[in-house]
Amino acid sequence: MPPVAGQIDIVRTGVLVVGAGIAGIACARALARSGVDDVIVLELEGAAGGNSRGHRLGGSGCPLGAHYLPLPGPQAHEVSELLFDLGLLRSVAGRTVAYERHLCHSPQERLFFEGHWHEGLLPPAPPGSRSAAQYRAFARRVAQVQRELAFALPTQRAPWTAAHAALDAGTFAQWLGREGFDDPLLRGYLDYACRDDYGAGIERVSAWAGLHYFASRHGFDAGDEASERDALFTWPEGNAWLVRRMAEPLRERIRGDHTVLRVEVEREAVQAIAIDETTQQPRRFSARAAVLATPLFVARRLCAAPPAALVAAAERARYAPWLVANLLLDAPLLERADGAPLSWDNVLQGSPSLGYVVAQHQSLRPDVRATVLTAYWALREDERAALLADDWRAWAQRVIDDLAHAHPDLPRKLRRVDLMRHGHAMRIPLPGARGDPALAALMRARGRLQFAHADLAGYSVFEEAYTLGVQAAARLLRELAG
Ligand SMILES: Cc1cc2nc3c(=O)[nH]c(=O)nc-3n(C[C@H](O)[C@H](O)[C@H](O)COP(=O)(O)OP(=O)(O)OC[C@H]3O[C@@H](n4cnc5c(N)ncnc54)[C@H](O)[C@@H]3O)c2cc1C
Repeated sequence: MPPVAGQIDIVRTGVLVVGAGIAGIACARALARSGVDDVIVLELEGAAGGNSRGHRLGGSGCPLGAHYLPLPGPQAHEVSELLFDLGLLRSVAGRTVAYERHLCHSPQERLFFEGHWHEGLLPPAPPGSRSAAQYRAFARRVAQVQRELAFALPTQRAPWTAAHAALDAGTFAQWLGREGFDDPLLRGYLDYACRDDYGAGIERVSAWAGLHYFASRHGFDAGDEASERDALFTWPEGNAWLVRRMAEPLRERIRGDHTVLRVEVEREAVQAIAIDETTQQPRRFSARAAVLATPLFVARRLCAAPPAALVAAAERARYAPWLVANLLLDAPLLERADGAPLSWDNVLQGSPSLGYVVAQHQSLRPDVRATVLTAYWALREDERAALLADDWRAWAQRVIDDLAHAHPDLPRKLRRVDLMRHGHAMRIPLPGARGDPALAALMRARGRLQFAHADLAGYSVFEEAYTLGVQAAARLLRELAG
């Protein structure tokens, strides 16, 4: 029967997932694979992916957000299973081997320092210099901390002791100061690394977060021959490559352009109201259970009666705004013969930006002519309003001026700039974020409303979002069975 004017359509389903980011898709995927067929995923954007969505420019894929995934470690078994499914990992003689085509090709990264490009991201330090000594001391300290405290990714698989809580209580900069790490080059590099993964530098993120970065996901390469470079997966369109393959089997279940406005838990069902953005019509959904796979501050607003843990967790969460600029060039940039060659990741020492990645880096096609650079800026929270309000040309000009320091020929080769403004891009792991008991409570929540989002880990990376999505599905299956 067609809906009568003034009457809101009701769609009934088994499970409603709100948000088709990595956590939401992971959750829907896990439910579908467990035989739960009646799942609907509502997503406010036109496409799935959230912070891992992609874009196209000049015929090339390019990222709008997340652009790489490191090889998963032993604790990230849900992620490993996904990568086996997608053909990115395989077993050879009992060993797990990555499919090299999708691993970042060499050269992986370089740094523009004192007017030259240098291989790697750590500023070069002459042997015997104080900087070189601090690099080695920091590498040893990270290895020691890792042995003693066993950091893990996802972080929930690491123990949580008084020593972890102590690291979580103060900033990384305070910890570095206490440990005597005062070398400006080392601190500048660590600050860049934290801004790159967490959206905020060493003065803001916790010591737990600073050490977790090096002890679990990336390692610290002191420039010694013995240390190994991290292996990572990347694609022209960034992690949207993963999104496409994860979302494809769910295409019938994901409804884009649906903004959820309200979620209410009743005795026998969960009711949700959404706006269909294409028709501007409200729509009601009634499900046996639901998963909120949105940032915590959104989940808190959606819930008609938010649980106390959600209110507390959302209250404490702080988010970094980010700007992502995709630049289309009509010719390759000039490169000086005496510097490190163009790499996948190219960082400018002392810049307010995080540098740029090159979409064509992974291409095996010699005929690819367009060059697309993706520049990343992690902004301060007090820049959020300006990110929204300022004319796009002003932001584009900042991006161009920054890159022109290293590439004076870039402005005349530039054909187009597409900007993506992320108002609340990622949760900053401030002191206290990781140890927040409200997060642990949300991860153990009982009942027909569950939560899944990288925010629950205290910071945002693929491995956390994916694992939290799979775990929310497992909790829901237990609830539905019981
Ligand atoms: C610029 C940038 C670069 C990054 N780079 C990397 C990287 O290289 N590697 C990496 O591992 N991680 C990176 N990240 C972190 C990234 O956030 C995670 O990898 C992951 O994508 C987070 O997924 P999520 O599902 O937890 O969250 P989200 O991506 O926030 O997903 C939440 C989803 O919910 C939707 N939603 C919100 N409100 C509603 C509503 N009311 N109704 C319906 N839908 C709603 C959103 O549109 C979104 O799709 C980056 C993040 C950013 C912003």
